[in-house]
Amino acid sequence: MGVRRQIDVAGIVQGVGFRPYVYRLAIERNLTGTVTNTSSGVTIEIEGSLEAVEEFVTRLPVAAPPLSHITQVQVRDLPCSGDREFRILASRRGERVHTLISPDVAICPDCLRELFDPTDRRFRYPFINCTNCGPRFTIVRDIPYDRPHTSMAVFPMCAACQAEYDDPLNRRFHAQPNACWKCGPQVELWDRKGNRIATKDPIAEAAAGLDAGLVVAVKGLGGFHLAVDATNPAAVMLLRERKRRVEKPFAIMVPDLSAATEVCEVDEAARKALQLVQRPIVLLPKKCPSRISDHVAPRNRDLGAFLPYTPLHHVLFAEGGFIALVMTSANLSEEPIAIDNREAVERLSGLADYFLVHDRQILLRCDDSVVRTIDGSTRQMRRSRGFVPVPVFLKEDVSPVLAVGGELKNTICLAKGKHAFLSQHIGDLENLESYHFFEEAIEHLERILEIEPRAVAYDLHPGYFSTKWALAQKNVQLVGVQHHHAHIASCMAENHLDGRVIGFAMDGTGYGTDGHIWGGEVLVADYRHFERAAHFGYVPMPGGETAIHEPWRMAASYLAHHFGDDFVNLAIPFVETLDRAKTDLLLRMVAKNVNSPLTSSCGRLFDAVAALIGLRSHVNYEAQAAIELEMSIEQGTDDHAYPMDETRIEDTWIIDTKRMFEAIVQDLRRGVSTAAISQRFHNALVAVFSRIAELVRERTALDRVCLSGGTFHNVYLLTHLQKRFEERGFHVFTHSEVPGGDGGLSLGQALVAHHRVSGESLNL
Ligand SMILES: [Zn+2]
Ligand SMILES: [Zn+2]
Ligand SMILES: [Zn+2]
Repeated sequence: MGVRRQIDVAGIVQGVGFRPYVYRLAIERNLTGTVTNTSSGVTIEIEGSLEAVEEFVTRLPVAAPPLSHITQVQVRDLPCSGDREFRILASRRGERVHTLISPDVAICPDCLRELFDPTDRRFRYPFINCTNCGPRFTIVRDIPYDRPHTSMAVFPMCAACQAEYDDPLNRRFHAQPNACWKCGPQVELWDRKGNRIATKDPIAEAAAGLDAGLVVAVKGLGGFHLAVDATNPAAVMLLRERKRRVEKPFAIMVPDLSAATEVCEVDEAARKALQLVQRPIVLLPKKCPSRISDHVAPRNRDLGAFLPYTPLHHVLFAEGGFIALVMTSANLSEEPIAIDNREAVERLSGLADYFLVHDRQILLRCDDSVVRTIDGSTRQMRRSRGFVPVPVFLKEDVSPVLAVGGELKNTICLAKGKHAFLSQHIGDLENLESYHFFEEAIEHLERILEIEPRAVAYDLHPGYFSTKWALAQKNVQLVGVQHHHAHIASCMAENHLDGRVIGFAMDGTGYGTDGHIWGGEVLVADYRHFERAAHFGYVPMPGGETAIHEPWRMAASYLAHHFGDDFVNLAIPFVETLDRAKTDLLLRMVAKNVNSPLTSSCGRLFDAVAALIGLRSHVNYEAQAAIELEMSIEQGTDDHAYPMDETRIEDTWIIDTKRMFEAIVQDLRRGVSTAAISQRFHNALVAVFSRIAELVRERTALDRVCLSGGTFHNVYLLTHLQKRFEERGFHVFTHSEVPGGDGGLSLGQALVAHHRVSGESLNL
């Protein structure tokens, strides 16, 4: 006696080889029935003996294809229909197929083997791929995800490729980018003017150029990279000069794990992170000495390293035998990454000597992702290629909302149902090209995700371009969300929390509800509301934005704040090296309240301490002073903490740094090392934050703590604080799937907007 069941599978189950997988699973068990793509995923009807059908249902999620992601399986009984075979059906006619789109994925082991097999018809073909690997998100123009809707539409398949594509038992069944030497995209090498260089082997020629110390622009999955040999100091400096990038670290691509181990400390967690199918850049401790040029990541203990992810990368390494190539986004400073061949030649002329291009169009740019491992777990620093557009899975359904993020490291978020889709890294919106990319990303994601937002969430900062864009939208509800509230909501969302939490939101800049610049905030918050439970005492930021680029201004401001203008008589190196005229001007600005906004920013406090102890008076990239302050700690040397005080004004604690600055000045006079001062400062933050958390717990009885904001990229602070909180009986929640910095802001905005719009009343 047979049975028949209907199985509805939801998640990322289309375009990832799911139907052929179901087909094989059914055939192996002598089951009959059908499988088809539907609007919500895949529907299977399966018929056979009870035992075989049940075994099929149990097995289904276990061995699913590597790129699939099942979120739900529903099974119900059907009457038997007496099918004689198992068939893959075309998508149901008339039904709108709404499903999740797979991200771009690194070449799989099967394709890699074929790539270097001289007997294979795709031997050294730089665009080899199959259902388990290759481009997806960056070649999709529209949905459903079928070849005519991708940039592969212009490459009709040859008979051999078509036969693979049509065969349910083939690894390339319905692999939309399927191609070969005969029918698919081809590589060319161009000179700096965009003229094609006549050569039989463009990749070998490019490798020779790299070997000779040239800069080569290489077209990848989500955009162009600029590549140089990372072991050649002159080549790295040449790239720095041309890219006008003074000190900001470059990422390196290494051919394999053993090369990574040769230049970096690679523990088990890092090994796993490097080999993720997303192939993110992984921040790893440098090995010193190593063959990597010091110019790659000057004054930094870490190196960002990643493994090759396209077949083209693999062929390039096989040709050149490089131990590491600098692979940095092809752009000038903070512009978006170049994706189009001609655009690349135009924008990068003067930067690259060669262009290794191909004719498979990139439809949507997508920068490399960046992660780091802390205590064995992987944390996102920049969630982009390989992870987008996989949604962040939410605990509860949300109404369709668009959140437009902040100003720096912008991402947007489209949320609907249990899915929050964060965009790829868009960049700094003050840049015109990035702003265009921002608009393009919203339009593209709304289309391919089929989300029509009913509300648009934005940051309260009136000057942000994302805010201005949001305020110009018509016929949607607009929801302004305070920056640090969004940070905490983002941390809550990825940890599936609801109710109220104690949120530590520490970063550089966020517009406060009182018009001042916040950034050292302890909030009591749920998704709808927050109250400010504690913050650093306000100090002026002389020169506004300029103070961000010139940390000496913050040091002077803090000293003037705590010691009065007489601080200029302190006998410490910082004061002795100050430019008197500039300092006088700065003090007058503060006294007359000219361009000196007040700030409670934790990032600016790091800047002040870094400048005061002589680490850095000017920065060349965002957060450089804070990063170098953390790097200056020599682990385990000093557990002393500087004193800080908190005073209560109504229900808010104000953190006072006066005694800490006095102690630092005293240590400087006594010649205490930079490493010790830095560590005592970090310890002071840990101590005062844990005191504040206890004070808030006494008042509110809350014991869940969320840590968010760019400051928590600081591994010393994050790990020590987490440990201290846990010792005191708090439950600590941090970011891992979503960046803790402003790249994760849009997720929090989306959740706050949903809760405000849906008008649930929560008791705060
Ligand atoms: Zn493959
Ligand atoms: Zn072909
Ligand atoms: Zn922030």
